[in-house]
Amino acid sequence: MTRVLLAEDDSYLCNGLEMALKRKGYAVDAVSTGTEAQAILLTQNFDVLLLDLGLPGLDGTEILTDLRKKGSETPVIVITARDALEDKINGLDLGANDYLVKPFHFLELEARIRAVLRKTNWSNQVELEFGSLKLNTNSGVLTIGDRELDLTPKEAIVLKTLMSRAGRVVSKRQIMDQVPDWGDESSENAVEIVVHRVRKKLENANVAINTVRGFGYIIEQAN
Ligand code: CA
Repeated sequence: MTRVLLAEDDSYLCNGLEMALKRKGYAVDAVSTGTEAQAILLTQNFDVLLLDLGLPGLDGTEILTDLRKKGSETPVIVITARDALEDKINGLDLGANDYLVKPFHFLELEARIRAVLRKTNWSNQVELEFGSLKLNTNSGVLTIGDRELDLTPKEAIVLKTLMSRAGRVVSKRQIMDQVPDWGDESSENAVEIVVHRVRKKLENANVAINTVRGFGYIIEQAN
């Protein structure tokens, strides 16, 4: 479950966001002061922090600066009433991943949360391993035992998506969401074509990409 820390002192907005996020399946901790936010960040890990800049106790910018100083890469979405351009630049300079000016629509916030989570999942894991496979997601180099193969960017994304969810079914939609642009081809067909090419490269790897009819694909150890 995705853990969200919500730091917002406007209790009406805070309660509303907390309820809406929980309804969407997020685990939410809500705090209303900067001091509380900093305390909970010392002892617990979150997948994303929604941070109001104007907080009592400790300002949101101080929390953000402190978090990054400690080396935390937790994605931070700044939510604030200050809509001046310099604040926006300032917030991003301090290490915010995104920025949302109040008032905003909940669907917009949710889309931003999904976007920062996708980006961090992508950037955090450089080397993935499954069975005899090792994939460097930066270079797209796939190592099978002592053989090295180059993957195209799309092949690397498809394999990365499957490997990071090894043993679980991944839908074509989940794969499509990882690739910004499939070109003119119908995306579902494009996914099938790329999966087909990756399968060929995995011959003799003791790992198989199996089709789960009507759902998608699963990467498994071949017997
Ligand atoms: Ca505030």
